[in-house]
Amino acid sequence: MDWTDEQNKRLTDLGAGPDILASHFEDSAERNRAFQKIEAGLAHETGDKIRRHLAEVRRPELVVLREKLAAALVAAGFTEVETPLTVSRLHLERMGLTEDHSLNRQIFWLDRNKAMRPMLAPNLYYLMVDLLRLAPHPVSIFEIGPCMRKETQGAQHAAEFTMLNLVEMGLPLPARRERMEELARLVLKASGLPVDECRLTTEKSGVYGETLDVESPEGLELASAAMGPHPLDAPWGIDAPWVGLGFGLERLVMARAALDGLTLNPARAGRSLAYLGGFRLNV
Ligand code: ATP
Ligand code: MG
Repeated sequence: MDWTDEQNKRLTDLGAGPDILASHFEDSAERNRAFQKIEAGLAHETGDKIRRHLAEVRRPELVVLREKLAAALVAAGFTEVETPLTVSRLHLERMGLTEDHSLNRQIFWLDRNKAMRPMLAPNLYYLMVDLLRLAPHPVSIFEIGPCMRKETQGAQHAAEFTMLNLVEMGLPLPARRERMEELARLVLKASGLPVDECRLTTEKSGVYGETLDVESPEGLELASAAMGPHPLDAPWGIDAPWVGLGFGLERLVMARAALDGLTLNPARAGRSLAYLGGFRLNV
């Protein structure tokens, strides 16, 4: 006999290892006694970890990662931008997100013409129109910030998550593929992930046609990347060759934790009222 679903969830939440989660029991009385004992032990340890977080660590891993990524990208010649958290219907439509598109059902609308941004790309496209006119090419910019999508929340998705989107426009056409891979490696390295164990795979995407996905050693999607010229460029008036990569920061934190045998989910790695420093507060 195994843990009940509820017990399993609670033990996972408290950071129980795979050996505890795989326990078997003769009957439910034995199991429930074991649960009480293990839960109390884990709750005690979690309390210690939260106190240690308050005394020593003091900052969310995601925020520290954000700063590391920004520093690495600025050192590589990129300029950081901050754009509005909202996006207009017109700009979403320009991204190909018209009524019948599947991602369109995931948008949090504020009113008829304004939504919480589900991605950073439209705002970056918008800035690029002027920057390509004003500055020598290539123009390299990035933004790191919250995005929102209606998701069936679970092991890999949260409604609020943090995206890093970097774009380089006006680079030589033949250099794109290699540049895309070079930038993917730069982000993986700055995130403390083993670059050679992460996979780059090709996939079809609704918005971008053919895209390149970056996967963690466990096969978790960390990023999707695309190249232009691209059919979506014309509505923005852009005709320069480009590469763009969008990473989920919670996923980068999860992949990093997995190296230490820790299973996180985006809710635990990101903005939260339930966890501090990745540790459950209601113990
Ligand atoms: P998935 O296929 O995993 O649902 P996606 O392909 O829809 O992701 P993209 O549009 O490619 O997502 O977004 C770029 C990156 O943002 C993803 O590779 C992922 O790391 C991250 N991401 C996207 N949606 C979420 C979410 N709901 N929660 C956490 N991270 C997300
Ligand atoms: Mg993707």
